[in-house]
Amino acid sequence: TREIQLASRPHGRPVPANFRLAESPLPELQDGQVLVRNLYISVDPYMRGRMNDVKSYSAPFALDAALDGGAVGEIIASRAEGRAVGDTVVHSLGWREYAVLDAAATTPARTDLAPASAFLGALGMTGLTAYAGLLKVAEFKPGEVVFVSGAAGAVGSLVGQIAKAMGASRVIGSAGSPEKVARLLELGFDAAFNYHDGPVAEQLAAAAGERGIDVYFDNVGGEHLEAALSALTVGGRVAMCGAISQYNSTEPTPAPRNLMQAIGKQLTLKGFLVGGYWQHMAEFVEAMSGWLADGTVRYDETVVDGLENAPQAFMDLLDGANTGKMLVRL
Ligand code: NDP
Repeated sequence: TREIQLASRPHGRPVPANFRLAESPLPELQDGQVLVRNLYISVDPYMRGRMNDVKSYSAPFALDAALDGGAVGEIIASRAEGRAVGDTVVHSLGWREYAVLDAAATTPARTDLAPASAFLGALGMTGLTAYAGLLKVAEFKPGEVVFVSGAAGAVGSLVGQIAKAMGASRVIGSAGSPEKVARLLELGFDAAFNYHDGPVAEQLAAAAGERGIDVYFDNVGGEHLEAALSALTVGGRVAMCGAISQYNSTEPTPAPRNLMQAIGKQLTLKGFLVGGYWQHMAEFVEAMSGWLADGTVRYDETVVDGLENAPQAFMDLLDGANTGKMLVRL
């Protein structure tokens, strides 16, 4: 199969030479296994961390071996009960055209609910991250004011729409371009700003007003987190989901200088990994499929064609070229 390998570890921003398109033989199909032809692969910011050789929650990628990550594909051969040729499944051997894996490591995609690609985005890991982060981690309640950064991205756009669907009194989003800001307003955000237009603290204060914010869903870290700490009300909560402004950093980055505000305002800052919330998947799919069916929640996708373009799609993701979920179609 053709696959994308990690050729060298990026220092700072990844460059094309860090990746290699290669061809590897597929293992023979064993009992209990399926052969999947990948249709879409998921392009995710957390992969940047796995390109470094450091111990983290997710093992580093090996050099000169295929990258992996979420994928959705069609079974083209099966030696497993419960999985038939033609089934669409989600699994974690992306970044290659074909994958041989245990049937138990695949999850059937309910393509009666949405197109296959949605199971990497709104109805998959991405959507669950938004749902669980907002409702379980930040313990959002109806009537509250929510601020989300990376708001035009895959997770962020869902966070804002779920908050509105569940009765937020106000949802504020930040993103990196005027087009993205316009899109957020179309999606029902009450206010949105471009963080390149001026200090985040000033723009957030203007959007939040006297009332401030109750929940901050953090995808970005750094200056955004500092601004949110200042805007949070007493008893406010932060769901710490990501810190993409720091993923390419080669030096330690400054902490929020105003962290002390967490004391007086009795804030809760809680980091989370979506893997710890998988037990809510059924509840989430039920809710999200309803919202998608009646148009309460809409999702954007940025689709790049061809496995050979996957490294560029990843680099572009870190630079903000995507609106909604970044996917590679094979
Ligand atoms: P996105 O679709 O949001 O894509 C990444 C976006 O980040 C870009 O489009 C870009 O948008 C923005 N960005 C890049 N650099 C910066 C910067 N310096 N400052 C502000 N924004 C920046 O990706 P996902 O929705 O997949 O992921 C969003 C976040 O959620 C990431 O931090 C990711 O690591 C995290 N995550 C965490 C999970 C968990 O279990 N905790 C699970 C899944 C995702 P722009 O044009 O607006 O700059």
